[in-house]
Parts: sequence; C-alpha cells; structure tokens
Amino acid sequence: MATKTDIRDIRRMSLKALTAWMEQLGQPHFRAQQIWQWLWVKGAHSFEQMTNLPKTLRSQLASYAVLRPIQTDKVQYSADGTIKTRFRLHDGHFIESVLIPVPEERRYTVCVSSQVGCSLSCTFCATGRMKRVRNLDPGEIFDQFWLVNQQCIAHYGHPLTNIVYMGMGEPLLAYRNVWQSIAHITDPRGLNFSPRRITVSTAGIAKMIRQLADDGARFNLALSLHAADDAKRNQIMPINEQNNLSILLDALEYFWRKTRNRISYEYIAFAGFNDSLEDACKLARLCGRFPVRVNIIEYNPVAGVPFHKSPETQIDAFARQLRQRGIMVTVRRSRGKDIDAACGQLANKE
Ligand code: SF4
Repeated sequence: MATKTDIRDIRRMSLKALTAWMEQLGQPHFRAQQIWQWLWVKGAHSFEQMTNLPKTLRSQLASYAVLRPIQTDKVQYSADGTIKTRFRLHDGHFIESVLIPVPEERRYTVCVSSQVGCSLSCTFCATGRMKRVRNLDPGEIFDQFWLVNQQCIAHYGHPLTNIVYMGMGEPLLAYRNVWQSIAHITDPRGLNFSPRRITVSTAGIAKMIRQLADDGARFNLALSLHAADDAKRNQIMPINEQNNLSILLDALEYFWRKTRNRISYEYIAFAGFNDSLEDACKLARLCGRFPVRVNIIEYNPVAGVPFHKSPETQIDAFARQLRQRGIMVTVRRSRGKDIDAACGQLANKE
C-alpha cells in the first residue's frame, strides 16, 4: 500500500526522474518518454488516457502518483470575441485565463495566471484585493495554455500564437514554476512554442529581473509601469517602495544587455492621475536607456476603486506626445467590457 510520502506529483517529475522510476518498476526506459509525451505534448488529464501504456502500469501510476489537472468552471463570451475562463484547481481555488483573439492580424493570445491571489496589492487591481494563497504549479500554468489553445481552435480554427503571463499574480514571485511552465511549453521535444511569442509581465521585482537575465531567459519581458514617477507609482503599487524606478531601470538595462530580448512598458491610463501630457514627457524620459515599446492600456473599472478610464481623446494625445519623441507606442483598447474584464474579477466572484 502506498503511503502519502510515496505519492508523486507526476508533473513535478523531470524526464530523468521518470526514467529512474520506470527502471525501479521494471519497465523499459521508453515508457518514461511515453508518459512525458502524454503529459506535455498530448495534455493528458488522467492516467487512463495513456492508452499506449500497459494497463498494469496505468494502475501502478494511479496508485503511486497524482495528476491534478485544472477544470473549466465557467466561461464568459464577450461580443468582441474575448473569452474569459474561470478554472477550478484541485484544492478548490479559482483562477482565470483570457483568450484575446485578433483574427485580422492572425494573433490569438492567451493571458495566463501564475498565482492564486496576489501579495502585491496594487490599488487598481481586482486580484490585488485577494490575499495571495499559493503559487500555481507548472502543470496548472501549462493547463491554462493547453485548454485555452483547444478553445481557440474550436472557436477560431486557429491555435494560440502568443502567451502573456499577465493574469492573476506576480509571475516573478512564482519564479521557478513560471520558468518550468515555459520550459515545457517551449520544449523542442514537445510543443516547441517559440519563446519569442511569450511575454512575462512583472509589477517590478528588480532582483528577479536580474535573475531572468542570469538564467538566460529567451522570452520577452513587460514591466507594469502605470506611473512615470516614484511618488505616483508608490500610491498605486506598494512594491515600488522597495523597487523604485531607478532600481528597476538598472535591472531592465541589465536584462537587455544580457539577453537582447524585447522589453515593453505597460501603462494603464487613469483619468486625471497619470494621463497628462506632463506624465507623457516623464514617461518618455524613461525610454532612452534601452529599446522599449510602450503599451497604453484602457482601464477596466473595478468596483470600489477610485480610478476611472481615461477619455479616448486624452489617451490619443498622450500617445501622440510619446510618438513625437520617437517612442514606439501601441494603444490597447479595453477588451471584454461586457464580461468581467478586469484581471481577477471572475475568479473573485462568489
Ligand atoms: S496588478 Fe498584478 S501584481 Fe498588482 S495586485 Fe494585480 S495581479 Fe498583483
């Protein structure tokens, strides 16, 4: 009889560990490859699905290992094509992912979560109101990609083209699990998704940005900037008190010099707070040290939060000001306005 300590979380095992385990069970080495393929290429959600394994091995796996997939709990469809899905985790917690299709550009992006809740308490964010509960496992992050990819094929006849780690949680505080999920998604022996089409977004943990560079990250990095001076940023993002703009810019420059990967600033425009032309000039001054693209994002209001969406004309003037200074700018209009569009709103319900 297996004791609790004998039970393995099979998606935490490397191919090497799986191979050693198969050897212990008297199985040939290729069984480990087959299991690995089921987990990370075919997205199996049960041992029963692994039909090319002998039945006895499948029941041994079920006795001595667990496979804990996420389950689709609720799906919301927006008139603009955005699909938001709430997933239930094995321990009853909820997270959410969003599919953002842009068929005219053949761009289909999934926004995935990395934590249940978040410890950073950004004042404008629905997720920031939930306490951080735990980091997601690499498999739970992988599942979001896998399931939304199926959703994307079913609805749009096209697989996902991009992944952004911009959902619930701070990815760099779930560093190892995020890293492993990306390793699985991009593994050339498996799905072989291009790391150039993956963006990890951080609220700004300088030490971990440097770590990404030292570890040889091949994906893109986005900084959720949202304010171009420390006084304003401190008001909306408490993390800025230990990771101020000067420290962050040093870390980003280090990342750029070591990796040459794309860096972007995410900038939610809040009416009357950070959307003036003076703010645009301050932001422009943060753009000179390394190549950076600025994404200006319309705010999705969250109940009880004292911020409002900046008017379109103001956002356009802001963007123009940046462009006049030679900065690459994209304005992202809010998506999914008719569903619980802001990050964490759906998972936080009930
Ligand atoms: S914006 Fe991101 S980092 Fe800030 S509280 Fe929300 S989920 Fe956490």
